[in-house]
Amino acid sequence: MKVSVIGAGYVGLVTASCLAELGNKVVCCDNDLKKIKQLKKGISPIYEPGLEELIRKNLKKKNLKFTSSIKEATKESEIIFIAVGTPSLEDGRADLTGIENVARQIAKNMPGYRLIIEKSTVPVNTGEWVKKTILAHIKGKIKFDVASNPEFLREGQAINDFMHPDRIVLGVDSKKAKELLLNLYKPLKTEILITDIKSAELIKHASNSFLATKISFINAVSYLCEKTGADIKEVAKGMGLDKRIGASFLEAGIGYGGSCFPKDVDAFINIAKELGYNFELLQVVKEINQQQKIFFLNKIKNALWIIKDKTIGVLGLAFKPNTDDIRNAPSLEIIRTLKKEGAKIKVYDPQAMPKAKAVLTDEIQFCKSPYQVAEGSDCLLLITEWQEFKELDFLRIKKLMKQPLIIDGRNLYEPKIMKKLGFKYIGIGRSANG
Ligand code: NAD
Repeated sequence: MKVSVIGAGYVGLVTASCLAELGNKVVCCDNDLKKIKQLKKGISPIYEPGLEELIRKNLKKKNLKFTSSIKEATKESEIIFIAVGTPSLEDGRADLTGIENVARQIAKNMPGYRLIIEKSTVPVNTGEWVKKTILAHIKGKIKFDVASNPEFLREGQAINDFMHPDRIVLGVDSKKAKELLLNLYKPLKTEILITDIKSAELIKHASNSFLATKISFINAVSYLCEKTGADIKEVAKGMGLDKRIGASFLEAGIGYGGSCFPKDVDAFINIAKELGYNFELLQVVKEINQQQKIFFLNKIKNALWIIKDKTIGVLGLAFKPNTDDIRNAPSLEIIRTLKKEGAKIKVYDPQAMPKAKAVLTDEIQFCKSPYQVAEGSDCLLLITEWQEFKELDFLRIKKLMKQPLIIDGRNLYEPKIMKKLGFKYIGIGRSANG
C-alpha cells in the first residue's frame, strides 16, 4: 500500500521504516531539513536499536523515501499518518499547533480521497478538530476520513514493539477507513481493537496515565520499605506475581521521565479539567514523581554532607536505557541541582551525550567511559540502567574513586554484593540490605 508519515521523530521514523519493511511504499516527511538531508543518506538522526539498518535497507529497496514537502507526501499516498510532536504548553495542555498545521497542509494538497490518521498522542476530540480543519481548507468536493491509531511503542525497543504489539487500536468512523487500516496491519499478528475515534484517543492517554500511576505507587511503597527495613524488590515481586497486578512498571527508582509520561499525565489532567473533572489521583502521581527526585538528592546530601566542591560522577543521562532521548530525563534536574550547590559533575552515557551536550552547557565534564567518571569522584550516581553499567569492573571503580560510595537510582545493583565489594551502597527502598 502507499503510505505517508508526517513527522520523522521517534514514532514517525519507526512507523515509516517498519511499514516499508512490511512491503509498503512509504514516504516519510519532516519539516526539519537537516533531518531529511541526513535520512536521505541513510543516517538516522536518533539512536534506536536496529532503526538505521531498516532505513538503509528500505531506501535501497525503494520502499522508503524522505521528503520535506507535505504536498508531495499528500499527493503520493492515500493513507497519511500524522506523527508530529504534541509537546506540553506551559499550563500542561497539549500543544496541537503541529497537528493543525499538518491537517491544513494535507487539506490544501489532497488530489482525491485520503485517510488521515492521528498517530501522535492527542486529547480526546482532536479527531473532530482535524475533520473541521480539513473541511475548512479543502479545495472542492473531495472525500476523506479521519482515524485514530495511537502508538504504544517504547523507545529502546521500538521496532520490536511496532512489529509485535500487545494490541493495535483503531479508532474509525467509516467502513473504508476500517478496511484500509485492517489491510495495512494484516501482516502483524496481534489483537486488533476497533473503536470509535474518541475512545481510541482516550485509550492512549488513559494507558500512559495508568502506567505512570503504577510507577508512583511503587515509589511511594519504596519509602515505606526504607522506613521499616523491608526490601522494595521483594515487595514488588510479591505484588507482581498476582496476575491482576502484573510485574511490569513496579520498579522503584528516581521516577519516570521522558517525552511521554510527564506530558501525557499533564495533558490528561487538563483534558479532565476541561470536561469538569478534577483528576486529583493524577495530581498526586505527579507529586510523588517529583518527590522521588528530591528524596534521591537528599540521599546524596545525607551521604556526602557538604555538596560544594565534591566531585559527583553520573552514570547515565538518557531517561531510560537503549535510547539517546533526554527529554524530561531525571538526570538533567539532578545534575542542575547539584551543580547549583557547587558540585563538580562528571558524566557518561553510552548514547545520550551528544544530545546532553546541547542542553548541559554549564561546565560539566563529559567522559569517555564509566571509569573516567569514577576517577577522583566522591560519589557515583547510577541514573540510567544501561546494561554496560551492570557489567562494570567494580574493583577498578573502587580504586579510582576518592571514596567508594554508590547511590543507585534504579536499583541496578544488589546491596549485599556491593557491600561485599567494599562500597557504601544506597539504593531505593532497600535499606534492609544496604
Ligand atoms: P519527535 O519530537 O521525536 O518527532 C516529531 C517530529 O515531527 C520531528 O522530527 C519534527 O521535526 C516533526 N514535525 C513537527 N512539526 C512538523 C510539521 N508541521 N511538519 C512536518 N514535520 C513536523 O516526537 P516523537 O517522540 O516521535 O512523538 C511524536 C508523537 O507520538 C507525540 O504525540 C508523542 O506523544 C507520541 N508518542 C511518542 C512515543 C515515544 O516513545 N516517543 C510513543 C508513543 C507515542
